[in-house]
Amino acid sequence: MRKYLSIAVILLGAIALTACNEKGGKGHGGGYHKGDVHWGYTGAGSPEHWGDLDPKYIACKTGKNQSPINMTGMVEADLPPLEVAYQDNGGKEIVNNGHAIQVNYAPGSTLKIDGKTFELLQFHFHNPSENTIEGKFFPIEGHFVHKAEDGSLAVIALMFEEGAENQELQKAWAEMPKEAGAKGQLTTAVSARALLPNDLDYYRFTGSLTTPPCSEGVRWLVIKAYSHASKEQIQAFQGVIKDNNRPVLPVNARVILK
Ligand SMILES: [Zn+2]
Repeated sequence: MRKYLSIAVILLGAIALTACNEKGGKGHGGGYHKGDVHWGYTGAGSPEHWGDLDPKYIACKTGKNQSPINMTGMVEADLPPLEVAYQDNGGKEIVNNGHAIQVNYAPGSTLKIDGKTFELLQFHFHNPSENTIEGKFFPIEGHFVHKAEDGSLAVIALMFEEGAENQELQKAWAEMPKEAGAKGQLTTAVSARALLPNDLDYYRFTGSLTTPPCSEGVRWLVIKAYSHASKEQIQAFQGVIKDNNRPVLPVNARVILK
């Protein structure tokens, strides 16, 4: 019995190491660890412990502008339209980094905001949602991660409700890697623009990465319109990675613009 237990522990350790060694593209979702404790969503590596796992993760514990949040009390603002110029079919590589399912995007797709150009690096998915709107969770939240030349980040977030099958999402879901650390090339590449709704009206606030190192100064742009995914698509995601959502953090002095 003891022997089997040790083997199980070694196997689990190997899986965790694979996940942590897997950088899984740029932006968030990469792997870090201290000693034997890897960050994750349960047990010793769960979100309430992230700030203690590594000095580099201190913002997870002490930051005052952390993500996700419950979005409420939005304030009217004259937000400029999002200027996205995404290449079609740029989502060719799919990764299971052990923390999320992520599609890495080909170079050359941009978001312009605040007079700054950000490049789309990847998009990935959480279930259930990380941000909540007026306390409401969604079965899936997509994060489109963009980085500017100076290193600053902008994330477009998109909520998915349960509904009809999402055909664009299905291009990725059809070849979702089941094991942490696995990656593959999609037979049919995904278009980031096709995943987003036509209407890109958004809420805006300042936040952080929702995974270690929880770096702040991230521009969060949450699309007001919801997308949809079928029950089967939601279950397929949950069957591979479940509950990869950091709990909401205090809004503190932040204002959520609408
Ligand atoms: Zn995310």
